[in-house]
Amino acid sequence: MSDSNGIQSPGYEIPPELQSQVTVTTLDRIYNWGRRSSIWPMMFGLACCAIEMICTAASRYDLARFGMEVMRASPRQADLMIVSGTVTKKMIPTIVRLYNQMPEPKYVIAMGACASGGGPFKEGYNVVSGVDQFVPVDVYIPGCPPTPQALLHGLITLQKKIDRESIKSVRWYRKEAIDAIPIPVLGPDLMDPREYDRIKQYAQEKLAKQESAESEPAVEEA
Ligand code: SF4
Repeated sequence: MSDSNGIQSPGYEIPPELQSQVTVTTLDRIYNWGRRSSIWPMMFGLACCAIEMICTAASRYDLARFGMEVMRASPRQADLMIVSGTVTKKMIPTIVRLYNQMPEPKYVIAMGACASGGGPFKEGYNVVSGVDQFVPVDVYIPGCPPTPQALLHGLITLQKKIDRESIKSVRWYRKEAIDAIPIPVLGPDLMDPREYDRIKQYAQEKLAKQESAESEPAVEEA
């Protein structure tokens, strides 16, 4: 519904003398506006993409316009993890630990081809094919490396995503506890504790096959 001046009204009459002094909005909008305008990223970089992230925070691109210039050196004070660089198997346990230490609400941006899917090192013996195999990613930014403008676009995309959230359905206000993500273990290869049952079953099947092959009588040659 809109009045004679074309101004959208919320569905009920606002007296003319109040129209220039009163703003009617929703709790969701105020709440989301507050969070989207003060996202504090974690000071955390992994490889070449981190250089572009540092440029984005410097004066030319000026993250302060978004209220995001306060890069925190502690995950406990950060809202956003920008995974900027190659995610190695050696590094992923630390990344998951840092993610678990961030308080809700928290968000993750996969910056660049490496963080999004392994990039030029995909299927390499030491590289994880995308950080989203371990932590939930909200925004992916393509490029190798993405430019500061691309990172800014990713941050604006995250703000739009936050704008669509509702206080009634966000996970951090649900009654059930949010479980921490099990930290992967780096042994001969990277092992995800969530996959332990499957790995155990596979190992048992393989062992059973080996034992049955050994117990079969050897065929004597004529
Ligand atoms: S995506 Fe390209 S620039 Fe970014 S960390 Fe990987 S190799 Fe480096």
